[in-house]
Amino acid sequence: MALTWENVRQNNPSSGLGRLHGTGHIPAFATLEVVSYATDRSAQLFERASRAIPGGVNSPVRAFSAVGGTPRFISSASGYRLNDADGNSYIDLVSSWGPMILGHAHPAIVEAVQKAATTGLSFGAPTEAEIDLAEEIIKRVDPVEQVRLVNSGTEATMSAVRLARGFTGRTKIIKFSGCYHGHVDALLADAGSGVATLGLPTSPGVTGAQAQDTIVLPYNDLDAVRETFATYPGEIAAIITEAAAGNMGAIAPHDGFNQGLKDVTSKDGALLIIDEVMTGFRVSKAGWFGLEGVAGDLYTFGKVMSGGLPAAAFGGRADIMAYLAPAGPVYQAGTLSGNPVAVAAGLATLRHADDAVYAALDANSKQLGDLIGQALTAEGVGHRVQYAGNLVSVFFTTDPGTPITDYASVKNSETWRFAPFFHALLDAGVYPPPSAFEAWFVSAALDRDAFGVIADALPAAATAAAGARKEN
Ligand SMILES: *Cc1c(COP(=O)(O)O)cnc(C)c1O
Repeated sequence: MALTWENVRQNNPSSGLGRLHGTGHIPAFATLEVVSYATDRSAQLFERASRAIPGGVNSPVRAFSAVGGTPRFISSASGYRLNDADGNSYIDLVSSWGPMILGHAHPAIVEAVQKAATTGLSFGAPTEAEIDLAEEIIKRVDPVEQVRLVNSGTEATMSAVRLARGFTGRTKIIKFSGCYHGHVDALLADAGSGVATLGLPTSPGVTGAQAQDTIVLPYNDLDAVRETFATYPGEIAAIITEAAAGNMGAIAPHDGFNQGLKDVTSKDGALLIIDEVMTGFRVSKAGWFGLEGVAGDLYTFGKVMSGGLPAAAFGGRADIMAYLAPAGPVYQAGTLSGNPVAVAAGLATLRHADDAVYAALDANSKQLGDLIGQALTAEGVGHRVQYAGNLVSVFFTTDPGTPITDYASVKNSETWRFAPFFHALLDAGVYPPPSAFEAWFVSAALDRDAFGVIADALPAAATAAAGARKEN
């Protein structure tokens, strides 16, 4: 395929590229100096993938449906660098949606994985390394006394909800609008992440019976929580909340919000499930708990704790965890749970994530947020850069003085400015999350060179955001 404005525009229908170069007049042909990236090979792969795989991807946000254009097929990655099938390379600000805090293909992690792989891929029997990983998590997060390993964050939250219901003998669950806890049937209602990106209120296939025991409340609204407990005393098994919301963009809990949830649940005999799949072992050594100190009854973990391989965990108070089979009656199992290769990757990642790594993550997130803010301010684009620990995101808004605190305010923001902003960055070799509803994830591997590329890319991206027009 020849590299013309026409096919660039077809590949990037909402990219705003035409506006970047002066008049908005679209020349018949563009040169490689103007458009730095060919995406022919990714486009071919996407076409082939779309025949074999629904929507061409194995997880929806990867398809670029919210930003348009060709999803980049990744061929390799190292440090902060992602390389695609066309030979382009990008500064990675997604980090596999969180796990890769040390950067890609970190030698110590690769070595741990190789070593584990040569001694057997799966046994279906316990191993010593599983204890090491469980103990590492318990050591870091004080309220966690016992841990069960699973294969994904979804499995962790699904199992934690079942356990909470089994332990309390109650059925109702409270979740917050815009929080995402994986694709668990009962937790898809008004969820963030890909559910938000695709604009789904919930998902077909989730039955009324599965959804009716889920009460969805606005995030950061403690009064709504108290009223709900007053309406259903003794009926609510648990509140599940993201430790800090990261799946509708970064929205920190108000001071006292998580503590309030703790107080309300313990007074009523309900449980507090704190979902740290995103924040756990990223925002500090002990996750959000390490920053805030509010103890949940149950926790869920994923992403960082498995270093990029499929593993996750849930854990918490020993008296609750004792209800799990085979110690107790609540069933939960997994053929590949505690997989030795995934456990090796997770353990090596956590052991390498020392104070210096967390200091680098914090500094990198701050630097990224500052650069984004400066570029948008220079172009007069109304925005807020928000943080939840070292999760960072940008919201386009005409009212920058007002914090974005819940899903309603996220949806009210100018999300339509995001696609051109995103594509201008991508075209300049920076890979942000392809959705306005996601946090940006830095790694400790980002260095001066990486930030140089980001700083060079941002002015054109800010211009593209400034020139964006709301459709219809
Ligand atoms: C990513 C995420 C999940 C789901 O984890 P998967 O491994 O994708 O199933 C659950 N909760 C939160 C807070 C997440 O960010």
